[in-house]
Amino acid sequence: MTSAPDVPRAADLLREALGDRLLTPTDAGFPDAVRLWNGAPGATPALVARVRDADEVALAVRVARRCHLPLSARAGGHDWAGRALREGGLVVDLTALRRVDLDPGTGVVTVGGGATAADVLATLRPYDRVVPTGVVRAVGMAGLTLAGGYGPLCGRFGLALDNLLGAEVVLADGRRVTADPHHERELYWALRGGGGNLGMVTALRYRTHRLTTVLAGMLLFPLAQAGAVLRGYGAVVRDAPDELTVMAGFLPGPAGEPVVFLAPFHTGDPAAGAAAVDRLRALGTPLVDQVAPLPYEDALRLFDGGMADGNHYLLRTRWLARVDEPVVAALTAAAGAVSSPWSAIALHHFHGAAARVGLAETAFGLRADHLLAEIIAVWTPGDDPAPHRAWAEHTSAALAPHALPGGYPNLLAPEETDRVRLAYGPNWDRLCRATRRYDPHRVFSAVPTLPPAPDDGHPVDR
Ligand SMILES: Cc1cc2nc3c(=O)[nH]c(=O)nc-3n(C[C@H](O)[C@H](O)[C@H](O)COP(=O)(O)OP(=O)(O)OC[C@H]3O[C@@H](n4cnc5c(N)ncnc54)[C@H](O)[C@@H]3O)c2cc1C
Repeated sequence: MTSAPDVPRAADLLREALGDRLLTPTDAGFPDAVRLWNGAPGATPALVARVRDADEVALAVRVARRCHLPLSARAGGHDWAGRALREGGLVVDLTALRRVDLDPGTGVVTVGGGATAADVLATLRPYDRVVPTGVVRAVGMAGLTLAGGYGPLCGRFGLALDNLLGAEVVLADGRRVTADPHHERELYWALRGGGGNLGMVTALRYRTHRLTTVLAGMLLFPLAQAGAVLRGYGAVVRDAPDELTVMAGFLPGPAGEPVVFLAPFHTGDPAAGAAAVDRLRALGTPLVDQVAPLPYEDALRLFDGGMADGNHYLLRTRWLARVDEPVVAALTAAAGAVSSPWSAIALHHFHGAAARVGLAETAFGLRADHLLAEIIAVWTPGDDPAPHRAWAEHTSAALAPHALPGGYPNLLAPEETDRVRLAYGPNWDRLCRATRRYDPHRVFSAVPTLPPAPDDGHPVDR
């Protein structure tokens, strides 16, 4: 039997420590504190705790448990399904934990649990160093990393989580632990893929890489050339070297009709990079051709503002083994039938270093070359969501017969728990055991949304 939440008691206990950094719905700062990237209506929490350090995170976790409040972590606010907030719950707002420290001697960077990719890259830039990030700098590093972390450096340096050397974690019972190859090894394994389900991460340690510039940018082609461009893209990604990672898809075009985009990132020899970009250019007649050598941070600025905060969003996702003829047809048909001028489709390219990590080394469940398809339905506040939802569902269904089982756990919808299970493949049972060991009462009902853990008969590891 679950006990009723005691919000007044939780507020008293937290206010004692946090003062006016505890927000309730009647506080002036509350609407800002619960505003997320996706402006579509979501859950209304009862309390927001703006914590300043790991001790305050631990306190918030203990209070939530003692007072029976649903608990959630909020950092970059970019989970599309709004899982940073839970109805009637306590939000642990980690956004003040954004300190980033590089040790130039070891090249190891320590990143606060609430820091964004922008925070990390700004600190590393003077040292010509990078950590693999996603494409949008405003996304939280912990949320991105804990479930994967696809990005433009995937082929060269792996997923963000492949670069995670260790983490400081507040567990469900409020204990603070270190997870790395020498401490809490099972937690370290599970954190690299299991998302926010194991604990609240107050700091992450990453390996950094030296990288002065990338040859990167955007090629845009007319929709009429979608077939040829995507077919050619399929061939390029089939034999791309580690140094070349290319995103593709459809973006809103200036005339209201989508355009096809290719976004190459080449991190190797400049001549090889130029040849690779020429091969992409030749797939059609570019409307826009903006590819240049840039610092990695500046190359990501090209994606700033592409998906405006506060619009309403619904995402669907598929894992594709290749871009073959049926996939080209499904994607092109989807672009032609798009329900709003702001909607988009993106393909993230997984290969190279990311694909060479052993499947059992981390909890992340797919290590073969693939494309991650992101179907992004966008509409403005006040618009009827139905046609946009229908477009995303229809596109996802059209890709399903050509897709791999599962999907990127960070992007699956809360109700798609069967696909989450499939996403972890042979790592699923071990992840369930780790979740039961570190969070036996499912205090962290987090991203990704895990289905109830089956009692698989295995003893809980100690
Ligand atoms: C515009 C946009 C672009 C994106 N681009 C990419 C991309 O290129 N590559 C990619 O892989 N993904 C991408 N994503 C997905 C993104 O990585 C996830 O949505 C991620 O969870 C966002 O983290 P956040 O901190 O911004 O979100 P929030 O909404 O603040 O947090 C979401 C959840 O993440 C977990 N979490 C966050 N911080 C912590 C922490 N410190 N400790 C424990 N759990 C935590 C919690 O469960 C939390 O509820 C993108 C999403 C958007 C909206």
